[in-house]
Amino acid sequence: MSLKFISVFLVWWLTKAEYVLAIDTYTIGAVFHEDSNEIETAFKCAVKRFNTFNNAIFFKTVIRHVPKENPFAVYEAVCKMLDENKGFAALFGPPSTSVADVVDSIASKIELPNMQMQSPSSLWPEDSSNLYTINVHPNLRNLQKGIAKTVESLQWKTYAILYQDRDSIIRLQEVMKLSSIGKESVLLKKLEPPDYRLVLKEVKRLGYAHIIIDYDSTYLMEILQQAKELGMLEYLYNYFLTSLDAHTLDFNQLDCIANITTITITDTNSKLTYGFAKECSLGRIIPTNSTDIPTTLVKHEPSLMWDAANFFMNAFHELHLTNHQVVRKLTCDGEERGIHSFGLANYMKIRPIPNTITGKINFENDHRSTLTLQVVEIMQGRLRKTAYWSAADPESVTVVRTEKEQQELIDLYIKNTTFVVSSRIGQPYLMYKKPEDPDEVLEGNDAFEGFSMDIIDHIAKMLNFSYKFVLTKNNKYGSFDKEKKTWDGLIKDILDRKAHLAICDLTITQERRSAVDFSLPFMTLGISILYTKPKPQERDIFAFMNPLDIVVWMYILAAYVSITLVMFFLTRLAPGDWENPNPNDPNPEELENIWDLKNASWLILGSTMSQGCDILPKGISSRMGISMWWFLILIISSSYTANLSAFLTTSRMGPTIDNAESLAKQNKIKYGVLNGGSTMAFFKNSNFSTYQRMWAQMSQAKPSVFVNDNAEGVKRVKTTKNQLYAFLMESSSIEYETERDCELKQVGGRLDNKGYGIAMPVNAPFRGSINSCILKMQEDGTLRGFKEKWWKQMHGGGACKNEPEASSSDMKLALDNIGGVFVVVFFGVAIACILALAEFFWNVHTISVEERKSHKEVTMNEFKFFLSVWKTKKRNYKASKSHGSLSNMTDSITIKSKSNGSLQPKED
Ligand code: GLU
Repeated sequence: MSLKFISVFLVWWLTKAEYVLAIDTYTIGAVFHEDSNEIETAFKCAVKRFNTFNNAIFFKTVIRHVPKENPFAVYEAVCKMLDENKGFAALFGPPSTSVADVVDSIASKIELPNMQMQSPSSLWPEDSSNLYTINVHPNLRNLQKGIAKTVESLQWKTYAILYQDRDSIIRLQEVMKLSSIGKESVLLKKLEPPDYRLVLKEVKRLGYAHIIIDYDSTYLMEILQQAKELGMLEYLYNYFLTSLDAHTLDFNQLDCIANITTITITDTNSKLTYGFAKECSLGRIIPTNSTDIPTTLVKHEPSLMWDAANFFMNAFHELHLTNHQVVRKLTCDGEERGIHSFGLANYMKIRPIPNTITGKINFENDHRSTLTLQVVEIMQGRLRKTAYWSAADPESVTVVRTEKEQQELIDLYIKNTTFVVSSRIGQPYLMYKKPEDPDEVLEGNDAFEGFSMDIIDHIAKMLNFSYKFVLTKNNKYGSFDKEKKTWDGLIKDILDRKAHLAICDLTITQERRSAVDFSLPFMTLGISILYTKPKPQERDIFAFMNPLDIVVWMYILAAYVSITLVMFFLTRLAPGDWENPNPNDPNPEELENIWDLKNASWLILGSTMSQGCDILPKGISSRMGISMWWFLILIISSSYTANLSAFLTTSRMGPTIDNAESLAKQNKIKYGVLNGGSTMAFFKNSNFSTYQRMWAQMSQAKPSVFVNDNAEGVKRVKTTKNQLYAFLMESSSIEYETERDCELKQVGGRLDNKGYGIAMPVNAPFRGSINSCILKMQEDGTLRGFKEKWWKQMHGGGACKNEPEASSSDMKLALDNIGGVFVVVFFGVAIACILALAEFFWNVHTISVEERKSHKEVTMNEFKFFLSVWKTKKRNYKASKSHGSLSNMTDSITIKSKSNGSLQPKED
């Protein structure tokens, strides 16, 4: 009992009774608001602690509560407090900026130190300096700079800034200088209570996933709750909360996977902060008996009050030791002024304090010049310090998390996430899988197969995550609508956070890159031309007639008949063509002309066929006439020969294009691209004149030459009549088509070089991991293997491996082209045979009449002779008739008939 009494007395003596025992006692006045409990607690706790451990002086406190928005009431209260007390060593507070000026001006007038810790007002620091006011709150310029540098370190390209009031705008001034507000990259919006959804919805609609919120921490939970209702706390939404107290919120109740970053000025890892939190129990926040006191509950204003109180009391004590501090009663209306206040205030401003819970306190130009902002991330409800910014090194943010730790966190994130992969149907990247059993309905990932799926599956196995394929709306790749300022297709899915990844034959373009990030390319390609191979020409056995127009053929026929007649008459006129029939008679009585119609026509025909004739005209005029015919035939036959080869070659090859230039130069073959794809963008935005010309042609073409997907383009190339449509397509897809459809071919080389990549949100933490996987897959040949599988093996690949490309050099004349020549020969010979038969039977008839034998007998004899092919001599029945003695002649002679000049065979 007595021991207990002694110890209680000792404690009392050490604390309350000091000044009774002639320890110097000073009074500190403090002004608080009804709702500033934590600050008041920190103040009281600091004073109590000082009094406990200091036995030279003792501080007594006088506290007044004043309203926040009533400066007059504050003035009254402070003056009354001054009146009622013997004198103050200093005045503390008030915490609110709105009435701080009142206390500040009283303190300045009566020359009394005034310790403040409220955040800098919008006018501060320019309009600031008061000799007696010591504000331990960090300098506004430093705060602006620190916030801006932190935002910069987050590397956000586009973000929305949601602010509370004018002070927020001032606080974010440096952030706004980072990028011009109003441009597409930054959206600035005021958040109006109580329904924040209106603004949040717009932010979501515009696709902003990086959001800076400058708002009082009291309202932050409500704002985030509403964001959650709108699905804006989903993965890859990133928030930066500028409130210095945001870290004290209970993020566990949000149960969100969004990434939240904030800043604090209290080092939550420091022992000092822990000591403060534990000793002062932080008012009503933490039960006094709690053993686990989270430093994360320490708000910045109580911390600043704690630091301010300690700062003042220690400085006062130090001065007191050398120079006894005298405090006198001062009133608002009195003439009295503080005696040592000026020295004390100045001493505090030159005395740096290293050990406080808000970092080192140092003053420059009457303002706190030191500031260290701790950057903390809230991950799965817990705070992790990731970096810090210090006013001592204002241009950089120092990362405290090692790369290894960072990677471990990312790996953990990847592992615990089911990746949503957005894609589109398009061969061979993603296709519906045919079930083995027709009745089976495939669901989820099992419903698809293809190159994209194999890639994602492989990456998922390497990184140990699960994934789910979803199809994008309208099967679009992703193009930007400049008027609506919106994206569609896969890019929209990424921007709307509907998918973690997007994969298909999605080309990496600069425009898309400004909205999303891409992995390293998993395939390289370029734009080329898809066209059909020359089609087998239509059957036309009389194609040999085509080189000359039908009119020309008719003219030749007419000329043949006319020239025959002309020659007939010319030779009759020309004396040179009247010849001596008997060479043994130098003066014959008669002259003979062999140029009857038959011989004339034979001569013209022989020369037409370039065969000549065994008889030729001898007269000058007739020779002149026949020369003109030969001249005509020379020209016609050489034109025919030249035309025939050109005609047969071109008709087999069809219309020819070799490259984009030749396509651009002509108007006959139409060409188009996929609507809304990167190929279309390539032509639209090209500075190269050929491509500009091609774009002009394509955009003006009617009907439209644009198609909705590659399959439609391929179909159009194949079905457009006379090969009059070419499709500008990416070389990888052309390769896929030409592997299967041997009618198709690629024309010319690549117009550009680019790659397909996996799209993902900007700054996605898993980008590095996915890139490593792609590199690895490239190096170990996995990507090549997948390509081989989907291009050359699956679904009919490799069908056109040995299909030689037709070229003009190996064009041959097919029977189809010149079969007509054989037909003509056949009919000609057939007619000749018929004529031969006719002549045969006429001969039989003549003999049977002449020799008075039956037709049958003569026919049999003549036919027998016809079959005796070894016999080359025949009896001349006319001679045997006129010279009966010669009937037994075995030899025959050939004579020229005067009447017809023809040769007659002699019978044996
Ligand atoms: N790969 C293209 C894109 O990503 C689509 C096909 C094309 O435009 O030819 O937009």
